[in-house]
Amino acid sequence: MKVGVVKETAPNERRVALVPELVGKLSAAGLDVLVESGAGTSAWAPDSAYTEAGATVVARDEVYAQSDVILRVQKPSAEEVGALRQGQAVIGLLGPLTDPQTAKTMAERGVTAISLDMLPRTLSRAQTMDALSSQANVGGYKAVITAADAYGRYFPLLTTAAGTARPANVLILGIGVAGLQAIGTARRLGAVVRAYDVRAETKEQAESLGAQFLVLKSVADASGTGGYARELTAEEREAQQQELNDHIAGMDIVITTAQVPGRRPPVLVTAKAVAGMKPGSVLVDMAASALGGNVELSKAGETVVTDNGVTIIAPDNLPATMPAGASSFYGRNISALLLHLVKDGSLRLDTSDEITAGTLITHEGKVVHEATAKLLSPPPAGAPGGTSA
Ligand code: NAD
Repeated sequence: MKVGVVKETAPNERRVALVPELVGKLSAAGLDVLVESGAGTSAWAPDSAYTEAGATVVARDEVYAQSDVILRVQKPSAEEVGALRQGQAVIGLLGPLTDPQTAKTMAERGVTAISLDMLPRTLSRAQTMDALSSQANVGGYKAVITAADAYGRYFPLLTTAAGTARPANVLILGIGVAGLQAIGTARRLGAVVRAYDVRAETKEQAESLGAQFLVLKSVADASGTGGYARELTAEEREAQQQELNDHIAGMDIVITTAQVPGRRPPVLVTAKAVAGMKPGSVLVDMAASALGGNVELSKAGETVVTDNGVTIIAPDNLPATMPAGASSFYGRNISALLLHLVKDGSLRLDTSDEITAGTLITHEGKVVHEATAKLLSPPPAGAPGGTSA
């Protein structure tokens, strides 16, 4: 079976789905690896490194023509979907719940689409395949580095002959995978770190990394299913924002990571809270996207400096800014999933297996992933509106 690795084409995407160090692992399982020339260049993996590792470097058209399975990071563009052929499989972070149409087109072309973002993450045997976690981890680290870079002062307490620098006060909102890495990174840089999440179980996790957990009187535990948070009610949201405002005013750095699956990210930092911050303070909104973000004033993909001197950074793809490190983790995730799906040198899709059933989006001309198919089916006549992702 031939496994192809293509160069990513999304704007500013510098990651690659497979790094040279992992080629041997696939070869050992009887797979031939084809790599598009230049696929790893922006992640500091030159063609020569793939060749030395035992892969064959070819032109883009050849990867599409010869591969049985194509490995990628982001979903294919419309043009790339057009290059896929019947019976070919694609594995990547395909985002079928935010873009069900691409899944539909792949189904129509007879392509088997397998999406890492649909992995059942709580299964312990799926942990090595959890690309959402590995990339959130990279993002949490880079968010702190980005904040430190934009902040005009020190993170640690420094006592020098020229005076003493007090440590930065950092607040992390949302203590999932990214938030925990952000706490650890900010602590390692010497900041005083506070953290907050609506899931009560995160208190102990934050404290074990050296952060002080903020307890808000206004919001009770809002744990949802699968380790995620539930959406807050309008009253809870307002009470939470009001109580957070007082804490935010005293912070030098606020990093927000809060997400609720399938919903708009909650606004945790209002314009009023930003107005109360000191000049030179920095906000990094990791949740910002076209859907909105955790910071009311953030603009996805942009950096805004407010009239009162607060820098609001809303990076749109932090993992891509650490391409070598992020690709190395991602490559391990995608290889683990691929090897899980391969038996005797070819793809065997056994949908009685939870990992296969969870990640399989399209197969044999159909959208087989239930939640994706639901988004594509029109609401029954007379129903008020459609479903939301
Ligand atoms: P996420 O990206 O969905 O959200 C980030 C954090 O934001 C979450 O901790 C969430 O509780 C928090 N949040 C949501 N609304 C909020 C609000 N209004 N105010 C404050 N915080 C808010 O989360 P994630 O990083 O993908 O991880 C979610 C969970 O899944 C975690 O519990 C994680 O440990 C768990 N997980 C488990 C496994 C496993 O069991 N192997 C693997 C991966 C993740």
